[in-house]
Amino acid sequence: MPESGELPRILAIHAHPDDVEFQCFGTLALLRKTGCPVTIATMTPGDCGSAEYGPDEISRIRRDEASQAANLIGADYLCLEFRDLSIIIDNDSRRRVTEAVRQTRPDIVLTAPPMDYMSDHEMTSRLVRDACFNAPIPNYETSASDAAPPLPRIPHLYYVDAIEGTDYYGEPVHPEFIVDVSETFELKLEALACHDSQRAWLRKQHGLDEYIESAKRWSGRRGSKVGALYGEAFTQHKGHPYPSNNRLLDLLLEDWN
Ligand SMILES: [Zn+2]
Repeated sequence: MPESGELPRILAIHAHPDDVEFQCFGTLALLRKTGCPVTIATMTPGDCGSAEYGPDEISRIRRDEASQAANLIGADYLCLEFRDLSIIIDNDSRRRVTEAVRQTRPDIVLTAPPMDYMSDHEMTSRLVRDACFNAPIPNYETSASDAAPPLPRIPHLYYVDAIEGTDYYGEPVHPEFIVDVSETFELKLEALACHDSQRAWLRKQHGLDEYIESAKRWSGRRGSKVGALYGEAFTQHKGHPYPSNNRLLDLLLEDWN
């Protein structure tokens, strides 16, 4: 395995604890196997994700759950401390997300898709897209007390799948490519199982009593499109001036042995 210093740094940033685990944890586990340093970040600590605990208590519980999941693959975990249902696009939010991108110094960023089932996901997508653009601009200041230096360049940016693979009209979205995660799928299930509180909350809120089973079904459907047992879907942001070569896929297809 090569030295981690030679390898691209990965930042997976989504709205809430467990979104990354559902949408791209199998891929992150593959990237860790190549030696890439990985940071998992959530915009919020999931403070509205309980009918049982108040916002501070459930936030504490869910930060711990997200850290445990990240630990399974030796990834770092970071919470940007926005609040559930309150992520909006404004300049303060742009500065905060840009600062997080500069602090974690990614070469590849995975984030929420532009169209998804709820606002926090869509706002996250747009803020991360903007932050990747802004992060290398030297005169763009984040106002953080210990501000990190600008990035050398715009990172490669990828959107994960929408929840259940549909847009908000309920129409299927068509991802650009699918990563075969059969090899790391057990780890993905272990990571999801770390999110005990969310599992209970989903049962109550959405009547969904099969947190793990739904992940198996969905990953199975994505995988079947490429002849794999389990898959995770991605679309790259390739518009000017973002890098458009598929560094993520190249990295996963490279033979490290
Ligand atoms: Zn979410």
